[in-house]
Amino acid sequence: MAKTKSKKRSKRSEENEKLAEEGKFFINERINKLSNLTEEAVASKEFKSWLRVYSKFHNYSIGNVLWLVSQAYTRGVDPERFASFTTWKSISRNVRKGEKSFKVLAPVPVKYKDSKDLNTNGEAKLKQFMRFRVASTFELSQTEGEDIPSIDYRTEGEDFGLIDKLEAFAKSKNIDFAYVDEKELGSAKGCSRGGSIQVLDSLTGASRAATFAHELGHELLHWANGAVPSDHERSTLEIEAEATSFIVLEHFGIDASKSSFYLAAWKGSAVSIKQSLSSIRRSSKEILDFILDS
Ligand SMILES: [Zn+2]
Repeated sequence: MAKTKSKKRSKRSEENEKLAEEGKFFINERINKLSNLTEEAVASKEFKSWLRVYSKFHNYSIGNVLWLVSQAYTRGVDPERFASFTTWKSISRNVRKGEKSFKVLAPVPVKYKDSKDLNTNGEAKLKQFMRFRVASTFELSQTEGEDIPSIDYRTEGEDFGLIDKLEAFAKSKNIDFAYVDEKELGSAKGCSRGGSIQVLDSLTGASRAATFAHELGHELLHWANGAVPSDHERSTLEIEAEATSFIVLEHFGIDASKSSFYLAAWKGSAVSIKQSLSSIRRSSKEILDFILDS
């Protein structure tokens, strides 16, 4: 009797091991696929022309963004993208005559010799502080010229019931979720806040599932015990979240190959994906384990 039981148990554990092996293989295979697709995306003409333009856009500080938004609001402008007069010119767009600029604070480093702080030779140390000056910037709608290249990385099609499963997973992990409009999300498709996620309500089907899974990736990997996301660089966080989404969707037979362009935009490559391998495996396995059992 005891023998039969242990035989049964060992057979079951053998099966479980086999399944676990297959699961691992499956995830590895998907990660390899994503690495190859990302390398292709980085090398593509479409991506290169996009990068050429986007690398020229300035990333404004939070303070400046808030100031720009309030100026835009006062002027009734729906802001999309700001850049200086010369940056617009460099991508073959011109600011229309008579357009009034928006204001931002631009840092100007000021160097000085500190006579109160001497080095070992008795000379005043060279120090630096930041002064700010008001600079001009213009919004996309104030310019005209060549089209700005865009990359569409939105996954399309049906979700095959995946959204319901992702919602159930979120509930099981006590992660609140809400579908909200762009007033709350700005230009983002979703947001992870540590214990809660938001997804743009206009997304449907596979694109809604993709964003949901992406934000779950952030929740599982980047918010340890409710802490603020760690010191990881933003690009690493985005690569890990999007790769999680890719693996989950592909498992459901949803073509998520456009994720590769998102990864490429965040400086993703086969190398950076490999560096995040254990994180990507962990988050995608956790979600897949749950939804395959449910
Ligand atoms: Zn993200």
